Amino acid sequence: MRLSELAANAEVKYELAEAMHRRSLPHAVLIEGEKGCGKRTLAGILAEYAVCSAEGDRPCGVCPNCLKAQKGIHPDIVWADGNQSGALNIEAIRNIRSGAYIKPNEAENKVYVLLQCEKMLIPAQNAFLKVLEEPPAHVLFVLTSVSATSLLPTIRSRVRTFSLYPPSVDEAAKVVQRMRPDQPLEQLTEAVQRTGGNIGAAITLLDSGGEEEQQAAEAIYRAIPMAAEYPLLLQTSRIVQNRAFALSVLNCLCDLAAECVKAGYGVKDVSPTAASLAEGLSRRRLTVIQRNVQQARSVLNYNVNLNFYGTWLCAALRRNENGGSYG
Ligand SMILES: [Zn+2]
Repeated sequence: MRLSELAANAEVKYELAEAMHRRSLPHAVLIEGEKGCGKRTLAGILAEYAVCSAEGDRPCGVCPNCLKAQKGIHPDIVWADGNQSGALNIEAIRNIRSGAYIKPNEAENKVYVLLQCEKMLIPAQNAFLKVLEEPPAHVLFVLTSVSATSLLPTIRSRVRTFSLYPPSVDEAAKVVQRMRPDQPLEQLTEAVQRTGGNIGAAITLLDSGGEEEQQAAEAIYRAIPMAAEYPLLLQTSRIVQNRAFALSVLNCLCDLAAECVKAGYGVKDVSPTAASLAEGLSRRRLTVIQRNVQQARSVLNYNVNLNFYGTWLCAALRRNENGGSYG
């Protein structure tokens, strides 16, 4: 894998290319950025670089070490994903620590890739700090996290942090096209637009056919007219864990709200779901819901804080035509 496979982030790529060319990559690197912006891809490239045995620029992509790294079977590259139970707990970190001092099997270096370090608890972070204080010369640690602030300042001061940003929609579309060459271009562009240019989320959306987003949108729409606020709050809080997913759900919700308005005006060819959701709601109410949903989507396009957005979203969707609240 080459740095060029990482979308956008030209500055980070330039800096890393320089460091790799000079063989001067630090012993511990932290990659931060939101879900789907390429952290895992970059971690894979750095791991491949560290085990590559080419004379010239590394990773060469073709030596036996690179090939094994690409297949995920290199004995000197250890992946631990914080999302898997126990993978970054204190016990696991102690094992990593003792393993790090043992010489590599096949390559010059050994790599530990610790994904989703935001899941690493403080005792485990403290255990990890010990190996960072005196890292063995043959080891590269690559950490990823949605935010560097999830790690102790003592860890942050010992790692080199690279911040990744999601690519623009156009850049993302190019990458997604490379990853899913068989998908029709139109479908692919739509997936990228719906996820605001987030490659990981666009791929998930393409692979799942958007079923999860559709279901979430329907659950939200169903909860909007309910007298109690809680059901809607529950549904909205589920989607705001991740910006790209939330954006994708809100796009589905906009389509759904438009369908529901049509159903309210007696248009025949609306989906059965929209017809049932619109049942019992006045045309005026359906239109207000559509307006609120569209506003909610446009607000999310600005870089709002997702925690605040979740609470705001619930109130915004329940707003009546005068700006007060239904229910
Ligand atoms: Zn190589």
